[in-house]
Amino acid sequence: MKTNFNINSLLRENIKSLKPYSSARDEYKDITTKKMIFLDANENPFENGVNRYPDPQQNNVKNLLSKIKTVSKENILLGNGSDEVLDLIFRAFCEPNKDNIITLPPTYGMYDVLANINAIQNREVLLNKDFQPKVNQILETADTNSKVLFLCSPNNPTGNTFTVDAVEELLTKFNGLVILDEAYIDFSKHKSWLEKLEKFPNLIITQTLSKAFGLAGIRLGVCYASKEIIKVLNNIKPPYNVNELTQQKAIIRLQQIDEIQNEIAQLVSERKRLKNELESSISYVEKVYSSDANFLLIKVDDANKRYNQLIDYGVVIRNRTTQPLCENCLRISVGICEENQKLLRALKAIQ
Ligand SMILES: *Cc1c(COP(=O)(O)O)cnc(C)c1O
Repeated sequence: MKTNFNINSLLRENIKSLKPYSSARDEYKDITTKKMIFLDANENPFENGVNRYPDPQQNNVKNLLSKIKTVSKENILLGNGSDEVLDLIFRAFCEPNKDNIITLPPTYGMYDVLANINAIQNREVLLNKDFQPKVNQILETADTNSKVLFLCSPNNPTGNTFTVDAVEELLTKFNGLVILDEAYIDFSKHKSWLEKLEKFPNLIITQTLSKAFGLAGIRLGVCYASKEIIKVLNNIKPPYNVNELTQQKAIIRLQQIDEIQNEIAQLVSERKRLKNELESSISYVEKVYSSDANFLLIKVDDANKRYNQLIDYGVVIRNRTTQPLCENCLRISVGICEENQKLLRALKAIQ
């Protein structure tokens, strides 16, 4: 349990006093009850399916997500990809040229990019050899200007999940916000932290429809947090940040949960098969790290050489060798069965 948490002590001054933009659809919301004509937003009235502005609060998408994830709608904010959600968090809480964030490399590169864009110092504390957070070192690195700690679990590119003990200790002892990036949670055997939102008012969980839900093209990121945090982010988001086509497509897909579950099950089973094959039949693969995500991190004899050889065979993977703790490591997304067969054939051919 986290006590004495006060969102106001973390918010930027200009955000505290912000008067948000009020859109036409914000001011008149009651669009379902009565047959009204809408002459309030300077839209083109000729119907073509998308001539009207989208719902700024994405109510139908949130209703479905709320049911699927058993989280109240007031605890959800949607963005144009997770990237927008993360950027909103920076702009709400991190004062440029003053505050700092803490990240744990090797991890998702966007945290550092967003920190740079927002003129925020990124204090890096490497993961340990087992790719777990060094809790004491992280807490020692933090000061009163450390507003946000980024935890990515399952982590990209390592694929592992952080231990419950480490995450819980950081949530309890870190005096800023803890972002838990769960982009890959639906591929994991471990539980999401969603049900701990009430216990930890400094917890922000981000998820995405880009990975397990199969909708990378529509750009829909999801943020779960306390009502207070969601309210702040809502106030600073662009009014129509999730477009109508994205909302429509998400609504259709979120009603096909069986299909999504089936795809996830196939990918998890392919991940296991691929791991076994890589370990047993490719001589230059030195290690296949265990993964709770839809990719595998492998250590090879010479990552640059193997990466280029695979390109010649028409297979593109991600070379992670320049990342800390990832020397000679390659990251391979799990494909459909035929794609994984082709990958394995190419890997065997270059032995
Ligand atoms: C892929 C990924 C995301 C997804 O970002 P979107 O902008 O929602 O597509 C977020 N976090 C991590 C760690 C990822 O690997």
